[in-house]
Amino acid sequence: MRSFTHVTAGSLAEACALLSEAGGKGRANAGGTDLLGVLKDGIHAQGPELIVDLKAVSGLAEVSREGDEVRIGALATLASLDRSTLLRETLPLLVQAAHAVGTPQVRTMGTVGGNLCQEVRCWYYRYPRHVGGPVGCLRKGDGPCLAVKGDNRYHGVFGGRGCFAVCPSDLAVALTALGAVVDIAGPDGSRREVAVEDLYEPTTLTLAPGELLAEVRVPVPARPTRQTFLKFTVREPVDFAVVSVAASLDRDGPGCRDARIVLGGVSPRPHRALQAEEVLRGGDVDDQTAARAGEAAVAGAKPMRHNAYKIGIARTLVERAVRACLDA
Ligand SMILES: Cc1cc2nc3c(=O)[nH]c(=O)nc-3n(C[C@H](O)[C@H](O)[C@H](O)COP(=O)(O)OP(=O)(O)OC[C@H]3O[C@@H](n4cnc5c(N)ncnc54)[C@H](O)[C@@H]3O)c2cc1C
Ligand code: SF4
Repeated sequence: MRSFTHVTAGSLAEACALLSEAGGKGRANAGGTDLLGVLKDGIHAQGPELIVDLKAVSGLAEVSREGDEVRIGALATLASLDRSTLLRETLPLLVQAAHAVGTPQVRTMGTVGGNLCQEVRCWYYRYPRHVGGPVGCLRKGDGPCLAVKGDNRYHGVFGGRGCFAVCPSDLAVALTALGAVVDIAGPDGSRREVAVEDLYEPTTLTLAPGELLAEVRVPVPARPTRQTFLKFTVREPVDFAVVSVAASLDRDGPGCRDARIVLGGVSPRPHRALQAEEVLRGGDVDDQTAARAGEAAVAGAKPMRHNAYKIGIARTLVERAVRACLDA
């Protein structure tokens, strides 16, 4: 492990200021479940010179309701989402997604901000120092994407531009289906808001040095909606999604007023399956409609050499998620 300066920030503003001063050479540490692995494996050629610990920042771990919104602090743990009565009653999709993350240990330490901002799991990007890494690639600003000609079985089938690593966050998929936004704090006391899916650019996050997630705001549906999160993994139950789906249906008897269908594990950002939503919106929904939504969800997929199998999984998961919303 390389040496670095470690500072415990007393406030979000202080953390932003410290990270801004450090330019790109500082990193925030929340639960540390991703960051410490990244540091120990030495996956980057240069380690950070400054680590700013966020754990002592108060007021950022709450889950509360304000009017038509649920506000979730960036330091709220995944375990706290999993056991939240408020979320269970208002946004059950989020509880299911939080529960689907890793192990109880990871959920106990891992935070919402860290889950959304964790580094990608592409095995070229993560090649550890102790077995000959790190290796450079486009995402690291050092060479071409190695997955294009290499083993891309876990990479994206939609929307890769340069980098084909998939967004690893289960929460991002559920939050996108719920229409959530993240509130981002900047070093000069500024605040800005982006939709969760817009946090992810093709090769990076849309965060400047010194910017940190402060909280996530999720609109509470005006009417009760049917919500389902499903995830296909290689190693149940402790694994990242090969493909996941978050579905939220606003039902009206047999009909469907509105639908949000979002796929995970298929793209560098949560992938809105807009054509599937179109199939579901405004008509009656039954098993046949669910199957058509599954077909529509994968229209336009562009598999790489080794990952066409993801298309069949995505189609089936969407169909099953819609059917689960019918049964709920
Ligand atoms: C064994 C294992 C299994 C896992 N399985 C899954 C899974 O199935 N699904 C899934 O979604 N995830 C999975 N994960 C990832 C896990 O969810 C994340 O490691 C965790 O949520 C990160 O939270 P943290 O607070 O520990 O982040 P940290 O490790 O502290 O930080 C992660 C990154 O986010 C940045 N960061 C932290 N907080 C903020 C903030 N407020 N604003 C901006 N940047 C910030 C840090 O600088 C760092 O780059 C798994 C991890 C492990 C180790
Ligand atoms: S998919 Fe992205 S992270 Fe993986 S090798 Fe290519 S550029 Fe790097």
